[in-house]
Amino acid sequence: MLDYQRLAELLFPQITTTTADMEARFPQRVLPEGAKVTRFAPSPTGFVHFGGLFPTTVAERLAHQSGGVLYLRIEDTDAKREVPGAAEGLIKTLATYGIEFDEGAIIGEDGKICDKGIYGPYKQSMRAEIYQTYAKQLVLEGKAYPCFTTEEELEELHAIDKKAEIKNTDWQAEAEARQTEKLARRAITMEEIEENIAKGNPFVLRILADGDPEKKIKFTDLVKGNMEIPENDEDFVLLKSDGIPTYHFAHAIDDHLMGTTHVIRGEEWLPSLAKHLQLFRYLGFKTPKYMHIAQIMRLDENGNKKKLSKRDMGANMDDYTRLGYCPEAVCEYVMTLLNSNYEEWRMQNADKSYKDFPFNIKKMSCSGCLFDFNKLGDVSKNVISKMSAEEVTEKVTAWALQFDAEFGKLLESDAEFAKAIFAIGRGGKKPRKDLTTWADAKAYMGFFYDELFTLEDSYDEKYDRADIKATLEKFIEYFDMADDSNLWFEKIKAIGAELGYTSDMKAYKADPDAFKGSVADISMFIRVAVTGKLNSPDMYSVMQILGRDRVVARIENMINSL
Ligand code: GLU
Repeated sequence: MLDYQRLAELLFPQITTTTADMEARFPQRVLPEGAKVTRFAPSPTGFVHFGGLFPTTVAERLAHQSGGVLYLRIEDTDAKREVPGAAEGLIKTLATYGIEFDEGAIIGEDGKICDKGIYGPYKQSMRAEIYQTYAKQLVLEGKAYPCFTTEEELEELHAIDKKAEIKNTDWQAEAEARQTEKLARRAITMEEIEENIAKGNPFVLRILADGDPEKKIKFTDLVKGNMEIPENDEDFVLLKSDGIPTYHFAHAIDDHLMGTTHVIRGEEWLPSLAKHLQLFRYLGFKTPKYMHIAQIMRLDENGNKKKLSKRDMGANMDDYTRLGYCPEAVCEYVMTLLNSNYEEWRMQNADKSYKDFPFNIKKMSCSGCLFDFNKLGDVSKNVISKMSAEEVTEKVTAWALQFDAEFGKLLESDAEFAKAIFAIGRGGKKPRKDLTTWADAKAYMGFFYDELFTLEDSYDEKYDRADIKATLEKFIEYFDMADDSNLWFEKIKAIGAELGYTSDMKAYKADPDAFKGSVADISMFIRVAVTGKLNSPDMYSVMQILGRDRVVARIENMINSL
């Protein structure tokens, strides 16, 4: 039997604080009844993944919907995997997607990460003393012990294990070997420990696991429902040899001290749950509620469901910005994936913000949601169609200035002109849905700018060139900017009538051969000349915006080219 008191002092002589000090330093939060405290706890190892925005949106909704707190904690305990600037990048990206933190690591005025709130530091690498205080307490209580095998040795052992796993599927033998190894580790004597410490040998601190995997823990996950998981018997590592904790240990202490009520994280953490429950019990903490969110799936080329991996298109949130998706549309899409009744709600509440939707944990899917670019596109078209012309102009211009400078400068040079273009078909019950992304804008409205105008489409061979020419010439003759849209169209009909193209669409449909064509063909002759395209927004509006000189110039160019 080890002398725990002596052991604790030997291992942590530098720790003079107690767990009671820590509890006093991080007082319980005073919040209204039912308020939820949630967090986003990224490891700063790269970009925000679509699969990360998902749980974070849930965390944001649950906190803010309940009058609670959403905070950001940076889990940088694995210095080897840390990518410089990643944490700043994560914070900025999330802000783009409507995730604003009330507390935690934020970007200060100097552009560097700083703390906001009294539960910090919010960067785990700066909380070593806190973790070690609890580690010392566990040693005092005989619940944790040191192990002097170095990290390199451990890695070597794991490499051997991995090889053995591939070759040898004799799980029984392997379990026995692990058990023997564990007992040997536990048998370390006080003399051995003292000797190692005297030599300055590094150690890791392991939990003394009391679980029996034959026994099951009953547990309710708020997404997955009731489950039974085997108890943990693995003496997993709490503190690494540099005194920095593993995720398991740090998460338990931080979520306790920071008052987290709901731990919302990816389901890849489910296999470690038994360890976490054990830790909360050992530390005497109340266990938070857990929500394990299923991973996002995608369909591969063969129609099979696959995990949306980091390298897949649609994974990196920064790609959406580059492709010109507006964050509002992405958030809207995330909501449709998160709650099965969201779309129904949206139909009844067209003008509300998605943040007004009563998000319900029970309506979440417990198996993986399917990521679908087409669906995102549909959602996005709807979202953009409801924006004002002013908003679209601002957003397209900002996007273009960053990703298509030439186009961006054209838009910027005359914002009123751009706004008039985007106003076509906007408002009203059935707004036009031409834009899926900001990147679509150039193809949609580039023809308004002489710098971008090209003849993309041409007249079909079947049309008489003389009729086209006559239509265009007559149109110039009759064209008056002061006409209203009715008179404008009457004139087009009249041109058609003169040339034998009917405006009686019923009669035309019943017997097309009785006419040279219809007024639709006449409009098309003009449309191609003015816009260079067979399809365009409403021609009357287009001409009003282009102005007489440009309309006439384009039509004359066409006449000359025929
Ligand atoms: N640092 C962990 C991760 O990035 C956090 C998991 C959690 O939310 O607890 O996966």
